[in-house]
Amino acid sequence: LPILSSFFIVYIISRLMSILGIKQRPSLPNLLCPYLSSKLSLDKPSLAMASTDFGNLVHKIPAAVFHPSSVQDIVSLLKYTYSHPLPFKIAARGRGHSCRGQAMVECGVVINMPSLSSTKPKLNINNGIDCDYYCKNNGGLNDNNGNVNVNVNGNGNDRIRVSQDPTLGFYYADVGGEQLWIDVLHATLGHGGGFAPVSWTDYLYLSVGGTLSNAGISGQSFRYGPQISNVYELDVVTGKGELFTCSKKKNSELFDAVLGGLGQFGIITRARIKLEAAPKRELEKELKGLNYIPEYIFTKEVSLVEFLNRVRKGELELHSKGLWEVPHPWLNIFIPKSQIQEFYHVIPNIIAKDNTDLAGPVLFYPLNRNKWDDKMSAVTPDEDVFYTLGLLHSSGFDDWEKLERKNEEILKYCDKNGIKIKQYLPHYTTKEDWVTHFGSKKWSIFQQRKTLFDPKMILSPGQNIFNN
Ligand code: FAD
Repeated sequence: LPILSSFFIVYIISRLMSILGIKQRPSLPNLLCPYLSSKLSLDKPSLAMASTDFGNLVHKIPAAVFHPSSVQDIVSLLKYTYSHPLPFKIAARGRGHSCRGQAMVECGVVINMPSLSSTKPKLNINNGIDCDYYCKNNGGLNDNNGNVNVNVNGNGNDRIRVSQDPTLGFYYADVGGEQLWIDVLHATLGHGGGFAPVSWTDYLYLSVGGTLSNAGISGQSFRYGPQISNVYELDVVTGKGELFTCSKKKNSELFDAVLGGLGQFGIITRARIKLEAAPKRELEKELKGLNYIPEYIFTKEVSLVEFLNRVRKGELELHSKGLWEVPHPWLNIFIPKSQIQEFYHVIPNIIAKDNTDLAGPVLFYPLNRNKWDDKMSAVTPDEDVFYTLGLLHSSGFDDWEKLERKNEEILKYCDKNGIKIKQYLPHYTTKEDWVTHFGSKKWSIFQQRKTLFDPKMILSPGQNIFNN
């Protein structure tokens, strides 16, 4: 009798839901075709990996983790959810080096981007295959000249390919969105006389798609602009499941939207990155044209790789002590040059008020706005020169809130005193704050682009832009 009555209750509830027009969402593996569901992981370790990030402050458990073997798998997954009346949300996860759950998705699907490079198509060049079809359907890197991502560079990585423009002669690298910058560095250095991208991040174990979704800044950005200013072309899968190649000349709205777009418009599966001959020593070039006090120069002789990969050593040391996994309540802001004196108050009165609180590096350097492209989604202060300040806090597991309060105090002080800072790697919880962040004109463009490329608001909900 109890069994019969529980069946009856379930039947009544589902009848009521269908009469009221409430649709039930089937479980993910049942929802997807057998091929796509074979690429899902639902086990605890996979879900745990996708529900944490470098920040270790936010945890959201997805329904599943998706392991694409090709770009076509990502297209199929997005097409599928887009066509469903109750689409599940999706977030690409580069390496989860965000600090506040930006690559997470509660009850949705996290795409584990590194899977793209773990299954490599093995092809011989000029084997008569329809390359365009193959690349579009199997995730290869297509250089539009019919060349497929076979390992012609000898760098051992099929998803990084160095080429020369046949008419203009410049060099570029076609790189999978899941690739790490360290691998891009090694692959490009190994080509010919040695090439390298011109703009970097301080830490190279970040994914290309992840940094291009923010901006990608470091000590070279004042001269070359952020990484997003050094990209020629992208392949992007939109929130509708459409795969486009875009550039300043082709599908430029999508190109500009995605660069600095916080993962809101599409998933970057390939980026064509500007290369130059790798400098043997960088220092003279960087200092050229700068005013400085000569006594303040401290030099150390290192190779280019040692210099660019300088954070790795510290990372490994922290890992070995279990200190890499601690909470990281980071705050990164851009401060307009004209207000730097007013901002100065923050240093003794908030940042260094109780210096026992500070643990982790503080970064500070200038940037030139004319190296940024305002058509792209990334946001800067409205001034020719601005400074980036990075408070890269590490904390204990139960005292990160103290540092978070310090961050809030800084933001409040700037707000109260009219210091027009912009957050880099921004984090807001209300729509009003996002509108203020973008400014009304840029916000309206950002919204229009969302309607165009991800109308069902499927992508990167962890940024809290359209779903708060
Ligand atoms: P994730 O954290 O995995 O993703 C970030 C966002 O991008 C998410 O919203 C995600 O959904 C989206 N996303 C990921 N991949 C794609 C893709 N292929 N297409 C579209 N959207 C995608 N930043 C700097 O600019 N300069 C620095 O010097 C710098 N140093 C850092 C040092 C450390 C130790 C750490 C942890 C971070 C640093 N960052 C720096 C920040 C870094 O740029 C961001 O964390 C960035 O998100 C890259 O991390 P990720 O590749 O793991 O991306």
